Amino acid sequence: MNKILVANRGEIALRIMKSAREMGIQTVAVYSEADRNSPHVKYADEAVYLGPPPSAQSYLLGDKIIAACKELGVDGIHPGYGFLSENGEFAQAVEDAGLIFIGPKAHSMKVMGDKLAAKEAAREFGIPLVPGTEGAIDDPKEAIAICREIGFPVLIKASAGGGGKGMRVVEREEELEEQIHSAISEAKSAFGNGAVFIEKYVGSPRHIEVQVLCDSHGNRVHLFERECSVQRRHQKVIEEAPSAILSDELRAEMGQKAVDVARSCDYLGAGTVEFIMDEDHNFYFMEMNTRLQVEHPVTEMITGVDLVKEQIRVARGEELSFKQEDLKIHGHSIEVRVYAENARENFMPDIGNLRVYQRPHGVGVRVDDGFEEGMDIPIYYDPMISKLVTYGKDREEARLRMIRAIDDYKIVGLHTTMEFARFVMKHEAFISGDFDTHFVNKHFKPEYLDQSQHADGDIAGMIVAKMMGDQSKQNELADANGSATRSNWKIKRL
Ligand code: ADP
Repeated sequence: MNKILVANRGEIALRIMKSAREMGIQTVAVYSEADRNSPHVKYADEAVYLGPPPSAQSYLLGDKIIAACKELGVDGIHPGYGFLSENGEFAQAVEDAGLIFIGPKAHSMKVMGDKLAAKEAAREFGIPLVPGTEGAIDDPKEAIAICREIGFPVLIKASAGGGGKGMRVVEREEELEEQIHSAISEAKSAFGNGAVFIEKYVGSPRHIEVQVLCDSHGNRVHLFERECSVQRRHQKVIEEAPSAILSDELRAEMGQKAVDVARSCDYLGAGTVEFIMDEDHNFYFMEMNTRLQVEHPVTEMITGVDLVKEQIRVARGEELSFKQEDLKIHGHSIEVRVYAENARENFMPDIGNLRVYQRPHGVGVRVDDGFEEGMDIPIYYDPMISKLVTYGKDREEARLRMIRAIDDYKIVGLHTTMEFARFVMKHEAFISGDFDTHFVNKHFKPEYLDQSQHADGDIAGMIVAKMMGDQSKQNELADANGSATRSNWKIKRL
């Protein structure tokens, strides 16, 4: 493979291109009107304009992307995450065009893209599943009998759902029938597929997922777990590896089950097997994500494996360069997703301009981003600004380093999830490792956010001084405000 087109944007496009460049592979970016000046476009060796900002008119135009590949002599397409990454028809069209899709085969995506089909495949391999209905619900009456057996509350899930959407908790039997009917019609309109099923609602669940890698020679390994229990709206916001609560035995068992899930769908490349774990550490298969995950860096940090390079290698037909027994966990890594969101207003997405954007640096800090100071965060796409990742010799070092990195990260112009992340890092439940997916509901209130981080007047002063290029004014402001805001506004005079 000499040339790869990255069918994505922002931080993940850049992250993929960096690994490709290290492998001596040329890169092609694609972009919409909104991303014309984005770093991923500048970083690539070539770039292809796709269309207006809405995804349906740009990043989802599979045929246009394939046509561009043929014109530019591209050998393979990396889809990143989101957009076309889990679209089996696109993967097939790529292969049919004589190009390499850097990801699994269409048939594996088809099985795992549908929650019910995925469970069916996993069941045959003896993977533990959350108790519930086996197939789609046709008759709510039958569902009632099953719910009585497993006990309320239960969760109705859309088979084609994703991204935390298409789920509803039902507390009481009287509500079940009505909720099933509304879930079916909602699933039809949201996902074009009305199949819904029921799972026992796990009361105090942790979301623990396992990274797997498979080549086309029958080698399958797991790269340990990621703990993704700190969520809002059923969506992850802070992840870490390894989990603070797994024993070596449980880790090995979950790893093996994850590899079995990969085997059950004839998987190729990098994938993630998601499990839900109850208070007694029973774990159940939820679904498999057939792509690179947002949170993959924490796995890279603790294993030393560049997952994108491995994806490219196995897509080229090479064997995995290591075996299960070669993989060891070294240290600990935490990732904070820095979203343009206001944690004070129920994590409502925020838009605006990155008036000040200064990244943290230093040992054990990795920032994957796709923006520069002065850029707007477009409304058309996911509002993630960056992924802030820290690494330490142990969990405590990674945690304290994350607090330091958050303090060093300067973003002015819009609200972000960083203040919330600082709150989490300092919270007793996170420190002890005793938390579940209800962390936000149980422990967080907007008024707990650190007020000292909101010295807007001081920050506004910094911006004015910055715009005027007046270093002495900046120093003066920084000195005056050093103790009120953070000491790193202070420019120390030697
Ligand atoms: P999606 O595909 O939308 O991401 P998942 O099936 O992966 O949906 O579930 C997303 C989140 O919803 C999980 O991380 C967990 O917090 C919650 N969840 C899913 N299934 C259950 C369950 N049976 N009981 C309790 N919580 C659940």
